[in-house]
Amino acid sequence: MSQNQPHSAADWSVEQSADLYSVKQWGAGYFDLSDNGDATVTVNIKGEKVSVAIIDIVKGMQERGMEMPCILRIENLLDYRIQQLNEAFANAIKDADYQNHYRGVFPIKVNQQCHVVEEIATFGQRYNHGLEAGSKAELIIALSQLKDNNSLIICNGYKDAEFIELGLYARQMGVQCFFVLETPAELPVILERSAALGIEPLIGVRLRLSTTVDGHWQEDSGDRSIFGLSTSALLDVVDQLKANDKLHCLQMLHTHLGSQIPNIRNVRTGVAEACRFYAGLVSEGAPLGYLDLGGGLAVDYEGSSSNSTHSMNYQLDEYCVNIVETVKETLDAMAIDHPVLVSESGRATVAYSSMLLFNVLDVRDHKPGQLPDSLPEDTIEVLKNLFSVLNTVTPKNFQECYNDSLYYRDEVRDLFHRGQATLRERALAENINLAILDKIAAILPSIARVPAELENLPELLSDIYYGNFSLFQSLPDVWAIDQIFPIMPIHRLDEKPTRDAIIADITCDCDGKIDKFSSPAGYVNTLPLHPLKPDEEYYLGVFLVGAYQETLGDLHNLFGDTNVVSVKINAGGDFDFQREFEGDSISDVLSYVEYSPSTMLEQFRKKAEVAVREGKISVAMRKQMLKAFRDSLQGYTYFER
Ligand SMILES: *Cc1c(COP(=O)(O)O)cnc(C)c1O
Repeated sequence: MSQNQPHSAADWSVEQSADLYSVKQWGAGYFDLSDNGDATVTVNIKGEKVSVAIIDIVKGMQERGMEMPCILRIENLLDYRIQQLNEAFANAIKDADYQNHYRGVFPIKVNQQCHVVEEIATFGQRYNHGLEAGSKAELIIALSQLKDNNSLIICNGYKDAEFIELGLYARQMGVQCFFVLETPAELPVILERSAALGIEPLIGVRLRLSTTVDGHWQEDSGDRSIFGLSTSALLDVVDQLKANDKLHCLQMLHTHLGSQIPNIRNVRTGVAEACRFYAGLVSEGAPLGYLDLGGGLAVDYEGSSSNSTHSMNYQLDEYCVNIVETVKETLDAMAIDHPVLVSESGRATVAYSSMLLFNVLDVRDHKPGQLPDSLPEDTIEVLKNLFSVLNTVTPKNFQECYNDSLYYRDEVRDLFHRGQATLRERALAENINLAILDKIAAILPSIARVPAELENLPELLSDIYYGNFSLFQSLPDVWAIDQIFPIMPIHRLDEKPTRDAIIADITCDCDGKIDKFSSPAGYVNTLPLHPLKPDEEYYLGVFLVGAYQETLGDLHNLFGDTNVVSVKINAGGDFDFQREFEGDSISDVLSYVEYSPSTMLEQFRKKAEVAVREGKISVAMRKQMLKAFRDSLQGYTYFER
């Protein structure tokens, strides 16, 4: 198939779009395409599947004045993920005849947004789903959000005396608040504060396993991990507790192998190792009773069901069965009671529920302009040579044509620099060269061994779609760790996408682009998209962005938080806008970097007044200008139509 050549749309089906964007694979039953070519989100309401076209939600947003870009959250999906996680563990426990229960906790750092944590606390209540806090601020969130004392609060991270006091007070109120020790140095502070307040702590120990995991977070695991206690530090803690007659407080063993573990074998090995430590601590006389296996449950961002970094070679059920069976088998062999199983799944809980939606503002294509049928007699010789290459490109000589084309084009550029070719001649040379490269790119797919220098040709000829968003604000992991997210248009999927594009954001940073995508054929550098239509917005969705993206984002070029809309889908297929949050105004982002918008307005007012006095503008115009300035301060930081 040739690069960026128009095709007829008639021979295209929605199924082909579904294959092209792998939506059935990464969509996991939550995302799909409708028969008329819209992307849909599907939720489960009392056992019934209900699908809604995302573009219909966008229309509703427009009616309410919510502009693009926007984060769209589907409340039902968050609710449903919590349900699936808890029920998958419950089923595995039942099937294996495991003699204890599961308690999930959500690590707040994965999405700290108030309404997300509120929803998790509400939806999770029926499963006693708790929260994990890695800092004082997060503990304060957990203490304020959780509604019942059967849910756990797990405190990880480094804890100062203030943090510990807060947790101890919570203990006194009956909250199951665990302090998980990251280092033996925390223990004396806990023991001292606990003695001073007369409140017994619940203590856990975070273990550094020697099991390493595949994927991006390899270094979170194994001996080189920066977190957790070494074996000798663990014994140091046990000895300190014994010496203080507090070993009965040691009730939890905690491990976290890293996030996004793509390979189920790593999970099994890690759990088996953790169980050995569990048994070791029990034989030291610790009561334990809780085994916390941390996060790591992956999300299949690329839909390949493989052990590649952005995928996973297992399903949720399999994950739970592997954990439950491994713990049971290992501990049964040593006749040790089954502990409460705890996991801290963040990514897998929230990723699905949010998507980033944006419109495309402009496209820069590399289409050659209209070429003449023949060149006039008096055209410079090199240009004639270049033109003659155009009609000779074949699968046999394309490499030679490529070399000739670049050579002649560079000759014309040289002549232009020396004043011996005109602006129009140079433009013609650039256009003919592009047309030749286009022809070569069309030949490449049929070539068995593409020469190395031509491998990037399709990418060089691809379009640039300018999206109304900031990568740094909304998709920081794409920039920081080359995260892959599924991206596709949310409408027109019954039309063949005839352009190959990379996506650029509207920051002025050359890193603000997406040029790596997952496709059925593996990673590719361009994404098939539709040509823009005049007078019609073109919307793209970046999916599975609910985890880790929102608070890591920064204010590059002062593009602020986007609008956020949270929608609940009802049984009839209609939906309620549960919450709407306006993104940052320009005035907001200016204040973040310590400007005072009112002072700025005052400074501008003075400038305008001087201009009036000097007769450069009228008083009426001064009024208009000040209004424009004031309106801009209140406006959205993104491109507004
Ligand atoms: C980040 C983190 C998690 C969350 O991991 P996911 O892979 O997102 O589930 C859980 N526990 C701890 C200690 C963490 O640091």
